[in-house]
Amino acid sequence: MNTALSKEDRAFAEEMRAFFASEMPAEMRERLGRGGHPSRDDIVTTMRILDDHGLAAPHWPVEWGGKDWTPLQRHLFAEEMVMANVPSPLAFNTAMVGPVIATFGSQEQKERFLPATARCDIWWSQGFSEPNAGSDLASLKTTAVRDGDEYVVNGQKTWTTLGQFGDWIFCLVRTDSAAKKQRGISFLLIDMTSPGLTVRPIHLIDGGYEVNEVFLDNVRVPADQLVGEENQGWSYAKFLLGNERTANASIGLIKSRILRIKRLGGTALDDPLLRARLTRLEVEATALEMSVLRVLAREASLPPGVPDPTSSMLKLKGSELQQDASELLTDILGPAGLAYRETDEVPAGFDALPEGALDAMPTYFNWRKASIYAGSNEVQREIIAKTILKF
Ligand SMILES: Cc1cc2nc3c(=O)[nH]c(=O)nc-3n(C[C@H](O)[C@H](O)[C@H](O)COP(=O)(O)OP(=O)(O)OC[C@H]3O[C@@H](n4cnc5c(N)ncnc54)[C@H](O)[C@@H]3O)c2cc1C
Repeated sequence: MNTALSKEDRAFAEEMRAFFASEMPAEMRERLGRGGHPSRDDIVTTMRILDDHGLAAPHWPVEWGGKDWTPLQRHLFAEEMVMANVPSPLAFNTAMVGPVIATFGSQEQKERFLPATARCDIWWSQGFSEPNAGSDLASLKTTAVRDGDEYVVNGQKTWTTLGQFGDWIFCLVRTDSAAKKQRGISFLLIDMTSPGLTVRPIHLIDGGYEVNEVFLDNVRVPADQLVGEENQGWSYAKFLLGNERTANASIGLIKSRILRIKRLGGTALDDPLLRARLTRLEVEATALEMSVLRVLAREASLPPGVPDPTSSMLKLKGSELQQDASELLTDILGPAGLAYRETDEVPAGFDALPEGALDAMPTYFNWRKASIYAGSNEVQREIIAKTILKF
């Protein structure tokens, strides 16, 4: 198959590049380009600007603000966004809960939640994992017991990314303890200001604060916040995960980190071993991008939400290259790569460092997560072995 971009697709990518350059705040793009981390405000501002231009959730149904784009155009849009140093829309909103509500939610839920979700007037968190239910998610123990017009929810969620900002959380809860594991699970939308819900931070090795534990102690949830049918939550969770076939390849992140390695490399790149690592990284990133384009080319013929095992290969390779790129950047920076900052401010005495260096070490630590979340790489290897290699 031909993976080169057509004239129309190139024109589309250029149009998007021009859009991000003209419409997104220059100060934010420059700051993030220097290695700053997107703040909550950066993400909300971005989503509101996208929403103002009808671009908040291109992959949603058209009646709820989606665009009639091809999968390749959606990919180009996401990639141009990363390359322009614009933060990606909050995945929990646009990639996860939005499509689930749009597909399985009631009309009342769609009207109540979808516009606010696209615009980030509601910041969603994902409440799937529990202390003893990560890879084996169907073992989750948080219960929701029906009591009149409400469910009473008890249990604990963990690794809740950016839960400190969450307004609402979409949770998998057990509604039938007697049923086979996967059959007794429901998908519930919970207001995070509900009495009995507590968020507690988990402190990370990179000095950042992005994950949390969420405790639910007799939290009362109106029954009309159940999505779809009771005990069908596992199918909705599989649909949610199956929608993101290529996003986890993180090709835009890898490419932008390669650009930074070249920009900051200087004389370090005269070292043949470091140069060989960079070349290998670039070749592998190009091969990954070709694979993403091949998957996208056939995705148009697949129904939405159907898991495609090749997405496991993209996630596996993408997370490995992300980690290789962050490691190479710290190695190339040498002692400057050891500098560490906990805020976006440049600390006194560090202003002689090359631009972008302060972000290198925290990102190196932070991207260790890439081989764990969205299904650990060991689990991806199992899926590849069973479904592609047929072991
Ligand atoms: C930074 C970060 C953010 C996250 N954000 C969220 C979030 O917002 N919401 C949410 O719900 N969850 C979130 N998660 C949770 C994530 O989905 C789980 O961490 C992941 O599924 C792994 O589960 P676990 O941590 O319980 O590890 P376990 O499942 O206990 O695995 C431990 C180790 O055993 C290996 N292993 C497990 N099963 C197998 C197997 N069958 N074959 C071979 N090896 C196996 C794993 O690969 C891993 O190395 C996040 C995780 C991280 C690290």
